[in-house]
Amino acid sequence: MAAYTISVIHGDGIGPEVCAEGVKALKAVGAACGHSFAFTDYLAGGAALDKHGVPLPPDTIKGVKDSHALLFGAIGGPKWEKVAHHLKPEAGLLQLRKELGAFANLRPANVHDELLDASTIKPEVLKGTDVMVVRELTGGIYFGTPRGIDGEGANRKGYNTEVYAVYEIERIAKVAFDIARLRRKKVCSVDKANVLESSQLWRDTVIGLHKQYPDVELSHMYVDNCAMQLIRNPRQFDVIVTGNIFGDILSDEASMLTGSIGMLASASVGGPVGFFEPTHGSAPDIVGQEKANPLATIATVGMLLRYGLKLTAEADLVDRAIRQVLSSGLRTPDIARPGERISTTRTVGDAAAAAIRAAR
Ligand code: NAD
Repeated sequence: MAAYTISVIHGDGIGPEVCAEGVKALKAVGAACGHSFAFTDYLAGGAALDKHGVPLPPDTIKGVKDSHALLFGAIGGPKWEKVAHHLKPEAGLLQLRKELGAFANLRPANVHDELLDASTIKPEVLKGTDVMVVRELTGGIYFGTPRGIDGEGANRKGYNTEVYAVYEIERIAKVAFDIARLRRKKVCSVDKANVLESSQLWRDTVIGLHKQYPDVELSHMYVDNCAMQLIRNPRQFDVIVTGNIFGDILSDEASMLTGSIGMLASASVGGPVGFFEPTHGSAPDIVGQEKANPLATIATVGMLLRYGLKLTAEADLVDRAIRQVLSSGLRTPDIARPGERISTTRTVGDAAAAAIRAAR
């Protein structure tokens, strides 16, 4: 039994709707397991811009840094599309990620049996898929220097630099090995070591660190092959660890195995406070209609418990509740088949919370 302070940024659009269900799930975990969760709401994105004139007020940064974990809904929307670049809701999100120093982005893609036909991939290929992509988030070609565009005419050149230092590779590989220990103990490191020196260093460094994890199986795959294998046979993967640009692409590819953006959770960790958010945005097209699928946020709560607070049994409880909700046939419109009965955001969230409480 323990006491935790959780920062909550509901954000814009469907953010408040799905966050409410995430908080409900966390309260149910507290009731079931005897933990106390104290929630403090902070503003960011469009809501902060409207109230304080900036998308990330200093109070939010300080409050989040003083808490054990951050549950984030979604930000942005058409209302703020025309504001100056530095005031855009998304600028606040990027700044917050930077402030929290999270260098590891975790994107799970697990396919629920009940939703096998929601994906464009054949059910027999998908069945049993449970992949975790661990993407390096603060280095690589997106940040490397030199970068720029210069020169004249036909010789005008655009260039970027893929660069990784040993310490950056070691810390992300450590996250991947530690996560693998909580799962099926397999790590596949993805690189392009047949062409890129930065990838050669990546591979050598991962092999070096692996000596500290003899119980975890390590394999290596070139990124082009990995892109194929994710579609051909996704069940072969447990944890994939890779650099920023490869991870950007592969995590989106892996997420589509599951079929619906309303089911996808994510976490950014590595700094003192973990940042937990559903993968989707603020979905202005369905805001206020009780159509938003809260399961991505509830799965995000599972990640907050597992990777943020290290409460494994409690996280398992949340994951089981999600499976129970799906097998009971409750469906928001995004995951309903034609003719299936539609449930509201709140109905699905209530059912998940009830399943958590009942499981104690
Ligand atoms: P989006 O993810 O908000 O929506 C894409 C589609 O998915 C829409 O049709 C939407 O209705 C649907 N969808 C999204 N979440 C859903 C859910 N939980 N349940 C059911 N359906 C869901 O992406 P977009 O339309 O490109 O962006 C809308 C706004 O969100 C933009 O302002 C964008 O900048 C912002 N955005 C924010 C984040 C974030 O906060 N991390 C991420 C992506 C986009």
